[in-house]
Amino acid sequence: MKYLSEFRDKDVAKNICSAIKAESKRPLRIMEFCGGHTITLVKYGIPDLLPPEIELISGPGCPVCVTSKGEIDAAISLAQKENVALVSFGDMLRVPGTRTSLLGAKTEGADVRVVYSPDDAVKLALEHPSLKVVFFAVGFETTSPVTSAAVKFAELSGAENFYVLSAHKRTPPVLAALLADEVRIDAFVCPGHVTAVTGTDVYGSLTSAGKPCVVSGFEPIDILASVLCIVRQFNKGEARTEIEYSRVALAEGNVRAREIMNDVFAERDAVWRGLGLLKDGGFKVSEKYKKFDAEAVFGIRAVGDDKETPGCICDKILRGVKKPGDCPLFARACSPENPVGACMVSDEGTCSVYYRYGGKTIAE
Ligand code: SF4
Repeated sequence: MKYLSEFRDKDVAKNICSAIKAESKRPLRIMEFCGGHTITLVKYGIPDLLPPEIELISGPGCPVCVTSKGEIDAAISLAQKENVALVSFGDMLRVPGTRTSLLGAKTEGADVRVVYSPDDAVKLALEHPSLKVVFFAVGFETTSPVTSAAVKFAELSGAENFYVLSAHKRTPPVLAALLADEVRIDAFVCPGHVTAVTGTDVYGSLTSAGKPCVVSGFEPIDILASVLCIVRQFNKGEARTEIEYSRVALAEGNVRAREIMNDVFAERDAVWRGLGLLKDGGFKVSEKYKKFDAEAVFGIRAVGDDKETPGCICDKILRGVKKPGDCPLFARACSPENPVGACMVSDEGTCSVYYRYGGKTIAE
């Protein structure tokens, strides 16, 4: 398949691995921020292909996983209201809140529905004008512009019964928080899709702190090439942002998407599961679009604690302090069919990824 098979080519992978082994001169701890990268790494056995001095650490880049219990609780409280339908992506239904999940609330009678896009939520509102439709919006700068476009669609189409409960997160504050955390990280494999919107300026705090950043695509060759770029930066004493994913991401990002996002949303402090309250770590609906803001309209606030279920170490997994195998519940009490913590729910959750994939390598 053109544009895909070449990014999974075993011989190319072996050549890049040989170059990494030949050029690697020091121990490196490299964090892949994005859950999409974690899937590729584990699915293709990339850690086993690298020299032992290079360690890959999974980060908090799974939007479902970092949604806090307080945000889940707020969504549940709205779903339980009379004449309200709470709609979101399917992954969100099983994420644990303080007492239950959205799926649990649904079994208790709350009106919780799955949509495939925020536009579907607007269409649901237009089809049912007497129903208050609340879209529970999660994700980083990749999805915030899509929610923003849906709000504009609602305004243009007169969907006065459409609202957004925003649990959207901003990535720059969490990158700064990771630097200050206990995990020593030497370099970052940065998220390609987020960068396609934000541009590379958001990595300035990391490169200023001496951490090379490489914006990577999501195929195994992308990630191996990104690791090689990082090794080479260290060998030259550099710390700059490189774009390996140049077929999608530009240094300036997507200006139009940012304009829409910054029109509909405003920065605010937000709780990230595992990382706590981060200054400007999230987005709320802006004053201009207040009539679509579920928090303002229904008088609730999507905040709260990020404490984990007893025994679950998702907080440490999300910060790269621990790996799924360190959790005594992994593959025992906790599985994708019966998730105890958020990291086992989403396809991009680190625990879920480690549970589903493993053992093989692209070079076999
Ligand atoms: S295996 Fe389950 S309980 Fe353990 S950290 Fe992961 S999600 Fe939490």
